[in-house]
Amino acid sequence: MQRALVWFRQDLRLADQPALQYVSQTAEQVFPVFILDPALKLGAAQQVWLDQSLKSLAADLKMLGSRLLLRRGHPEQVLPDLIKELNADGLCWNRRYDPIGCQIDQKIVSLLSETECELLSFNGSLLFEPWEIESKSKQTPYRVFTPYWKRCLEAERYFSVDARPKKLPPVASQYASDQLSDWDLLPAVSWHQGILEHWEIGEAAAQRCLQDFIDGPLAEYDTGRDRPDQDGTSRLSAHLHWGEISAKQIYLAVQGSPPSLARKIFLAEIGWREFAHHILYHFPETLAKPLNPRFEHFSWRTDVDQLNAWQQGLTGYPIVDAGMRQLWQTGWMHNRVRMIVASFLCKDLLIDWQAGADWFWDTLVDADLANNTLNWQWVAGCGADAAPFFRIFNPITQGQKFDPQGHYVRTWVPELAKLPNKWIHKPWQAPLDVLKAAELNLGSEYPEPIVDHAEARLRALAVFKHSR
Ligand code: FAD
Repeated sequence: MQRALVWFRQDLRLADQPALQYVSQTAEQVFPVFILDPALKLGAAQQVWLDQSLKSLAADLKMLGSRLLLRRGHPEQVLPDLIKELNADGLCWNRRYDPIGCQIDQKIVSLLSETECELLSFNGSLLFEPWEIESKSKQTPYRVFTPYWKRCLEAERYFSVDARPKKLPPVASQYASDQLSDWDLLPAVSWHQGILEHWEIGEAAAQRCLQDFIDGPLAEYDTGRDRPDQDGTSRLSAHLHWGEISAKQIYLAVQGSPPSLARKIFLAEIGWREFAHHILYHFPETLAKPLNPRFEHFSWRTDVDQLNAWQQGLTGYPIVDAGMRQLWQTGWMHNRVRMIVASFLCKDLLIDWQAGADWFWDTLVDADLANNTLNWQWVAGCGADAAPFFRIFNPITQGQKFDPQGHYVRTWVPELAKLPNKWIHKPWQAPLDVLKAAELNLGSEYPEPIVDHAEARLRALAVFKHSR
């Protein structure tokens, strides 16, 4: 390759970026490009992250002497034009594994394979590509996590990571780039301020985030990861989703810490991400359909008012409302609380998991087709290795167990801040004098529960039984 294009997608970093690494070592001219593809249908929170991440990538490329070219449109149309314009003889990219990403890759290959332009794609985001791990006996994809991850660990080979290129050739000014601000990735209303305040975005920030986690919460991750009132997890999910850091970089850095149960459990979470990609690659229909056919005709309810109350954090169940408000204000929610709010939607409200997945898609900075789909189906009981439908989270006891002092609830639902711990997860049961002392008017300042959990649980179990 003499004049090669490196097509950035969900790999917005310079180190351990196989496509960039290859091109920088072989080509004389390197053209970094990012294409805003309307087919991606990015959620609003993801767009905010992308805007900042592209700024950071552009600045990093500039430091190496290069320039990021921004283009908009369907890659299968933009790339052939760009190859002509740049007179490029090579195109390199890192593969995506979701159905849309796979389709685009196939289109690009079939469009350009007959041309003079050499095409090369790499694995830049997973430890193992989805087709590499299959069950020993049947040689079929795995549907259960534990044997899948065991097989991955058996297959663990020597992972290595590449350093970032030291220098890149300049991109001549004659090649035009879109202005990032013209893409309008940021919403017109200033809803996204909370996201900007809560996150540092970009490759350097991702590396700091990893180091802070290794130096701090990792040691107690086995217990700390379940406590939304503490900073017990890595918060690497959005960095990973946008490829500001690679799974291999994380895996190797964490492997460098002393062996412990906490380390093992954390690496297994990276394994769940791998498993989610494995499942979506082999069962792409799960984006819209449950993996378990029993749920295809499940009697979900339609209830716009209750769905709105859930989205706005006004269900009357403090741990649910705290989670939904953390999501709205920061673009992220703690994993334990994601499970609680998802169970509440699918089981207490009996609303289809897809309505929840859609809301998460729009509001999560880490919204990821593979992880979001797998986890919603897991909670709803209809997916791979899923929790059984009849396991219904009790939002009161979950709150009491995982937010015992109510710190998490008080942070995100400030109208409950003055309630004593005893009532913080069940304000509607508090005696009147307690409510008065806490200056809380139930029903006006904070809602009464929109459903009775005990009754809702029985209703859900009855519908489940009927669905057989
Ligand atoms: P940590 O606990 O530090 O975990 C490290 C990394 O492991 C995460 O960054 C993530 O990449 C991966 N990971 C952890 N838990 C899971 C899991 N259950 N499934 C897959 N990967 C996991 N995660 C997303 O990245 N995008 C999503 O759209 C998403 N949607 C979810 C929807 C529901 C209903 C639920 C219950 C979970 C969802 N998750 C999703 C998984 C999980 O909640 C987040 O990955 C995690 O909370 C991110 O925080 P963290 O980086 O601090 O995680």
